[in-house]
Amino acid sequence: MILSKYTFTFETRKKRFFIMNYLTGSIDEIENSEREEFERRFKTNDWSNYPLAEYMLQRGYLFESPEDEEEVIQEKYIEFIEEYENTPVQIIFSTTYACNFSCVYCFQESYKEFSKIITPEVTNQFFKYINKQFSREKVKPYITLFGGEPLLNGERYKNHLIHFLKKAKEFDYEITIVTNGYELENYIPIFKNLNLKIREIQVTIDGSPELHNKRRPTVTGKPTFDKVSRGVSKALENGYRINLRMIIDKENLPSLYQLAEYAKQLGWLEYSPTLFETSIGRNYELHTCQPKNTLYNRVELWTDFLEFANKHPILKEFHKPHFHGIKYLAETGTLPMPIFDGCPAGKKEWAFDLYGNIYGCTASVGVEKYKLGNIFEDTDLEQKKEQIHILKEEIDSEILYANQGKKPEMYHKNILLSESLEEQKLKWQSRDVLTISECKNCAVSLSCGGGCGVLAANHNGDILSPDCRPVKELVALGIEFYNL
Ligand code: SF4
Ligand code: SF4
Repeated sequence: MILSKYTFTFETRKKRFFIMNYLTGSIDEIENSEREEFERRFKTNDWSNYPLAEYMLQRGYLFESPEDEEEVIQEKYIEFIEEYENTPVQIIFSTTYACNFSCVYCFQESYKEFSKIITPEVTNQFFKYINKQFSREKVKPYITLFGGEPLLNGERYKNHLIHFLKKAKEFDYEITIVTNGYELENYIPIFKNLNLKIREIQVTIDGSPELHNKRRPTVTGKPTFDKVSRGVSKALENGYRINLRMIIDKENLPSLYQLAEYAKQLGWLEYSPTLFETSIGRNYELHTCQPKNTLYNRVELWTDFLEFANKHPILKEFHKPHFHGIKYLAETGTLPMPIFDGCPAGKKEWAFDLYGNIYGCTASVGVEKYKLGNIFEDTDLEQKKEQIHILKEEIDSEILYANQGKKPEMYHKNILLSESLEEQKLKWQSRDVLTISECKNCAVSLSCGGGCGVLAANHNGDILSPDCRPVKELVALGIEFYNL
C-alpha cells in the first residue's frame, strides 16, 4: 500500500491532529494515543501490519498502487472539467479607469491619468466580438461591469453606459456590477426601467462609518458611507442581490463588528443568502506599492478574524469564511470536489476595457504586459479560437494520459517558445495544478488550485508558476471556527 500524494496532516491551535485528502474528500481526527505510531508510519510510508491501514485504504488516504490512485485522479479531473464547462464565462468590461473615490489603498492609483470613458463605437464592437467569440460556450456568459468606477454620475457617461446596458439587454446577457456604491441609489431606477437581468451588485464598505469615510472618501474628500449604504438598502428592497465586500487590513478589522451590527440593524442580515452575502478581500499589493505595515497575510487575517468573532459573535452571523472547504463541510457534511484549477483567467474569465483591449481577468486589466489583444485587431477570431480549443484539448488529454509515458510540460515548452499574444493566451488557458511543476506533487493542490496567475507572474515572472496558499493553516482555523 502507498500513501496518496494528496494525503496530508495538520494540527489545530488546540493540538488536535487531523489527516485529510481532497482527492477522495476525506478528513479524520487522529487520537493522541494513535498519533506517535501514525506519524512514524506516515514518515516512512510503511503500512505493513498497521491496524488502521485497512480503514485508511477505504477512506482513500492509502492506495493499493500508484495506478489505482492515477485512475481516481483521472476520474476526478474529468468530473472537474465537466463541471467547469458548465460554469458560465464571466466577461468583465471596464467602462472607464476614472473613479469618483480616492481610496487610500487603491491598486489602480497608477491608472488615474486615464479619464476617458466608454464610447458607443467600442460598445458595438465589444458585443460583436463577444457574441462571436463566446458562441460555443455551453452556458450563456454574463458581463461584469468594472472600472475605475462603472457607475459614474456625468450625463454623457450615463448615456454611454445606458447604450451599453441596452445592448446587453438586446443580446440577453446577465449583468454583474462591481461598484463603490456611491451612485447606486440613482442608478436603480435606470436598471428597473431597462428591465435588466442583474445577477449581483458588489459594493464595498470598509467597516464602521468613521473608518469607511477615512479610507474611501470621494476625490474631493467627502464622506461616502451614508450614500453607499442607502444604495445597498435600495438595491435589496428592489430585489437585486448584494455582495457586500470589505477590504480588510489591520486598521479596520477591529471595527468590522460595528459594520455587522449596522447591517443587522438595517435588516440586511434578514435577506436570504441568495440576496445578501458578504465577502472579505485582503488589501495587498498588485501593481503599485502600498504601505505594508497594516497589510495582513492570509493566516494572520483569518486568525485575527477568528479572535474577533469569538469576542463579537455577530461576526459569525455576518460572514462565514470558506476556510478551504471547511464551511462546505460544516454545512453539508462532505468536502467539496477537488479543484484542479483555482484561476479562471483566460478560461472562465476574460476582461475588456474601454479601448477594446483584452486581458485575462480583473487583476490584469489595464496592465500592458498582460494585454492579450484588442477587439478591433482580432480579425480572424474563429480560426484563433479553434486553434486554442484544439491545443487545449491536446493539453487536457496529455494530462489525462501523463502516466502513460508522456509529459505534460512538453506542450508548455512549445507554448513558451515565443511570446505572441495567442501563445500568451494559451499559457493562461493551460494553467492548472497538473501543469505548474511545483503543484504537481503538492498535497494541498486540490484545494489551493495553484493560486492566482497574476500574483504568481508578479512574484516569479511566469504565469505558469505557483502562488501558494496556506491551506493547512486555514483548514485548522476552519475546524475551530465551525466548531467541528
Ligand atoms: S486568480 Fe488572479 S489571475 Fe486568476 S482570475 Fe483571479 S485575480 Fe485573475
Ligand atoms: S500554488 Fe503552492 S500550495 Fe498551491 S498547489 Fe501549487 S505548490 Fe501547492
